[in-house]
Amino acid sequence: MIVDLTLELSEETTVYPGDPRVEIRKWTAIEKDGYYTNALFLGEHSGTHVDAPAHFIPGGKTIDEIPLERFIGKGVVLDVSSLNENIKPQDITKSAEVVLFYTGGREVYLSEEGAKYLVELGVKVVGIDAPTIGDSSTHKVLLSNEVVIFENLTNLQKLIGKEFTFFGVPLKIKNGSGSPVRAFAIIKEEE
Ligand SMILES: [Zn+2]
Repeated sequence: MIVDLTLELSEETTVYPGDPRVEIRKWTAIEKDGYYTNALFLGEHSGTHVDAPAHFIPGGKTIDEIPLERFIGKGVVLDVSSLNENIKPQDITKSAEVVLFYTGGREVYLSEEGAKYLVELGVKVVGIDAPTIGDSSTHKVLLSNEVVIFENLTNLQKLIGKEFTFFGVPLKIKNGSGSPVRAFAIIKEEE
């Protein structure tokens, strides 16, 4: 079974403070031009997206330089929706190549210590259903270790307690700091 982990991208999409608003402009119409297309104006970090190391690390890899294998892996969802404080190492009770945090809209983020712990565990992808994984120190710990970060994921509650493979493939934006993605998970069916 496939679970879509992606937010809809539209002019109503909420963007991180300071980021450009998403604009989707009608470019051609069937009645007038014979075919229908839109032109997009959007930041690299709009909607469900991935952060590349270059987002915070000078000289870090840009999105086009990261191999595709990096965006696919066996995943686990940690339910942090009842935490009252940011996510610490002791809250990370399970691990996999891809570790995703379900906050359910609660404003809890990954602490710097939590990020260091994930790096020690050898995690290669971290994700959250919030506009940001944490503050700049958390970003720097993860990105300087080439752990890519998925933000604004959705539907993570559907993956709690399941075995799944995560996919979150970016556009190949030359020198990009990140990219919107279509993220999804394939759940292993129970026999
Ligand atoms: Zn981002």
